[in-house]
Amino acid sequence: MDVAVVTVGDELLAGDTANTNATWLCTELTDRGVSVRRVITLPDEIGDIARVVNEYRAEYDAVVITGGLGPTHDDLTMAAVAAAFGQELEHNQAAEDWLVEEGGYSADVLDPGTTAIPAGADPLHNEVGVAPGCVIGDVYVLPGVPAEMKAMFADVADQFSGPERFVVQVPVDEPESHLVERFADLRDRFDVSVGSYPGDHVRVKLSGTDREQVEAAEAWLRERVDLLEE
Ligand code: ATP
Ligand code: MG
Repeated sequence: MDVAVVTVGDELLAGDTANTNATWLCTELTDRGVSVRRVITLPDEIGDIARVVNEYRAEYDAVVITGGLGPTHDDLTMAAVAAAFGQELEHNQAAEDWLVEEGGYSADVLDPGTTAIPAGADPLHNEVGVAPGCVIGDVYVLPGVPAEMKAMFADVADQFSGPERFVVQVPVDEPESHLVERFADLRDRFDVSVGSYPGDHVRVKLSGTDREQVEAAEAWLRERVDLLEE
């Protein structure tokens, strides 16, 4: 299953807010065996959001989008997703009923924008905040506030699955540039993905869906590099 993650907000692009939602979603999706193929951050602009949602829903099995759900002027994500599907935003009675019954809100003080989702979408209830999310087609619209986003993702997490991946890390005490040939050899011999991540030392990450291949690749590599003493 190939998925795209879309995070929305001018404050993310300005560097005011660290994009922890993207990292969190990538980890959760990857842990479920999903392949995250894109992460993009977009400004609070309907045209940009609608265009990317349309492109990505055509390209990937699902799109997860977070941010910009509230009722304020800069919360445009619902309108953009509606536009991407050629739908209007419309009042969703189930969303209102849930907010009144479970959230304890009085229907007459709820801003109408709060309960508007694209026509044809199913609401996702917000256990932590107010604004509902929604699912329309293969597009999952979640809030920006991290605690709200995480709680809502839990409700749809079952929709995201893929083959189990096996991952091992090998810490190497050699410069990355010395490892090029051994990486080429490794990739020829074994059906694994090889990631090389320099930092204080080089961390080699091997992953794949065949446990024996990953273990064999790890053993092969460990015999041929200077391992970092840990
Ligand atoms: P609300 O209904 O509260 O307005 P919202 O869905 O409209 O929520 P935003 O207005 O986009 O969400 O963001 C609300 C807050 O959530 C931001 O001020 C920021 O602190 C946080 N936030 C938004 N997007 C992200 C993100 N990608 N990573 C981390 N925090 C985020
Ligand atoms: Mg907001």
